[in-house]
Amino acid sequence: MAIAEGSFGTNIRWAFTDRTMGSSAPPFDSLNLAEHVGDDPQFVRQNRAKVSALIGVDVDQVIAMAPVHGNDVGIVDSATVSPVPDVDAMVSSTAGRALLVVGADCAPIVLGDAIAGVIGVAHSGWRGIESNVTASVVAAMCDVGAQVDRITAVVGPSACGQCYSVDQARFDATVSAAADAGTLREDGSLGLDIRRGVMQQLRDRGVRTTTWGGCTMEDPKLFSYRRDGITGRHGAMIALTDRVKV
Ligand SMILES: [Zn+2]
Repeated sequence: MAIAEGSFGTNIRWAFTDRTMGSSAPPFDSLNLAEHVGDDPQFVRQNRAKVSALIGVDVDQVIAMAPVHGNDVGIVDSATVSPVPDVDAMVSSTAGRALLVVGADCAPIVLGDAIAGVIGVAHSGWRGIESNVTASVVAAMCDVGAQVDRITAVVGPSACGQCYSVDQARFDATVSAAADAGTLREDGSLGLDIRRGVMQQLRDRGVRTTTWGGCTMEDPKLFSYRRDGITGRHGAMIALTDRVKV
């Protein structure tokens, strides 16, 4: 699996990561992209630099978030300092900056409108579904010139509906916002499939969706907070570039 690269049009590049081929030591081994988990910042920077180079951006231009499981959106321009506090989504139309979103069971999402030159990222778990953070990021993208029918989203790995067991209250809160997220697990208990819920919310807004990666709790090449506790974060980066990469 390793790192997956892709593009929207010729001017937007993105990459999704797993936990392999990075610099960090256990329990953050090895491609940990998050500063807040207790890893050595030098290793995090090396790991981020490896990913940002793939999409043609210097590591100093990478903007991360300090998420709070809400639905506020940060607007990133040439003056923005990383990390942007208290947001679970970011939008930019400034070329040369890379937006970083990380997760370990919550889904990382990248979005782009290549014609408008607008990019976005979002982080969504059950609380992100409840507050519909993906609708907020789509609205913020449209505020700076994107059009819904031109936006494409890639939804990364999350905890699946067989692995992620929840109580009735969390199930009800999530399913009332996105019915597709609700699952009945093999033992008859309630579960949530985060990515299915996120994809339903994006489709409901008229956004085309694709996916990358599988279940974080099942795949040992992905970080999982629910499986491992203290661990790293995989994720995705997206950048708007004036250069056409051949
Ligand atoms: Zn699973």
